[in-house]
Amino acid sequence: MGENELAKKNAWLQMNKEEVEDAYKFNQGYLSFLTKVKTEREAVDFITAVAEQKGFINLDKIEKLKPGQKILISFKNKVCALLVIGRTPLTEGINLIASHIDSPRLDLKARPLYETDGLALFKTHYYGGIKKYQWVAMPLALHGVVVKEDGQVINVSMGEKDDDFVFTIADLLPHLAKDQMEKKMSEAVKGEDLNILIGSRPLQVEENSSVKSYIAQILKEKYNIEDDDFTSAELELVPAYAAREVGFDRSMIGAYGQDDRVSAYTSLQAILEVENPERTAVCLFVDKEEIGSTGNTGLQSLIIENILAELMHIAGEHDYFLLRKALTNTFALSADVNAAVDPTYPEVFEKMNCSFLGNGVVMTKYTGARGKSESNDANPEYLGRVRRLFANNKVIWQVGELGKVDIGGGGTVAQYMAAYGMEVVDCGVAVLGMHSPFEVVSKADVYMAYRAYKSFMQSFD
Ligand code: MN
Ligand code: MN
Repeated sequence: MGENELAKKNAWLQMNKEEVEDAYKFNQGYLSFLTKVKTEREAVDFITAVAEQKGFINLDKIEKLKPGQKILISFKNKVCALLVIGRTPLTEGINLIASHIDSPRLDLKARPLYETDGLALFKTHYYGGIKKYQWVAMPLALHGVVVKEDGQVINVSMGEKDDDFVFTIADLLPHLAKDQMEKKMSEAVKGEDLNILIGSRPLQVEENSSVKSYIAQILKEKYNIEDDDFTSAELELVPAYAAREVGFDRSMIGAYGQDDRVSAYTSLQAILEVENPERTAVCLFVDKEEIGSTGNTGLQSLIIENILAELMHIAGEHDYFLLRKALTNTFALSADVNAAVDPTYPEVFEKMNCSFLGNGVVMTKYTGARGKSESNDANPEYLGRVRRLFANNKVIWQVGELGKVDIGGGGTVAQYMAAYGMEVVDCGVAVLGMHSPFEVVSKADVYMAYRAYKSFMQSFD
């Protein structure tokens, strides 16, 4: 891209002084959110706490729907939704934004703890699409829950405070890595090599000494976690470091888990500011996107349908056909990230149609692989209306196609929303190093995503 072309497209150059200041300010909140929130459960805790503070009321406590009402729904501690009731009936559809709050990571196996060569380790099973070699030789934190047989839930967050211990996966030294270095990158670090170093000091027990026993003792005494408890646990290893500003100009943010918590945070801030919308505004935060939106907390389940059914039940419009109409008449944004052009790897991008860091929020008509396989290919009639909305609300945006044709591919939750007949398009932030433990985004794009989502929920009709 030449300099003149850059000036036309770059969001920093199109924003005025106040907008630039506002963008930097907005991103301060985003930075602390990323440092604090690293799992789907923590996202639900954060979102529901903020929403309650801002006057959102749990759906269980709602007896009658009123325009302007702010409602909170949470499900299984891993999915939640915020709603602002509109003036038009639900059968005319809602304005829905869905983002996902799970990110690629390493999960502990059911029987994780073992000892070998004087060291104690945890076995893991990776979650989502990772490049395994990226997860070695870095500090890792352990987050999640352990559920005891009696139902007691133990919340775990280890490795986040400055003076906390952390965990790690040791990498092979270069001196002895001759064979490893000749392997394909996908095989250099294998799934079963992602073993977490958790202890090295043996405990003397009568005749025997064992590192594993000492770890087991610490787990029992300090955390009330016993060996069998790992069989009913959800424990996730994530990078232990904080989110940081990137670059001399502090124009970017680097952090773990921005796919897709950048959409979660921006749509959350947006709906907190939505007041008395014409159509009911809904922000949905879902789990399991990174493994195909499966399970009862993923968007292939009936979450959207169940939420609308419950609302319509409360509104007294409990009729199967009216529910179908509400779903079909809904407008949606699948709020998810796209790949930003990486200047070091230009060979995988087609620069006329791929998205760039700093050029505004990305509208992605289709994702998929090969011939758009598995893609929601958004309708142009809908895209035209979204364009008009963005133009009227000074949302700087760009198109984005995920890399060159036939070079790979990917998907989002859009197709599962489209199944209901609703209009939906992917709309989110461009990311460098997506799915890596340190993803990078532009503060300008984060700010534009917030503006896009707010205008969509407040005034799209
Ligand atoms: Mn995503
Ligand atoms: Mn992803």
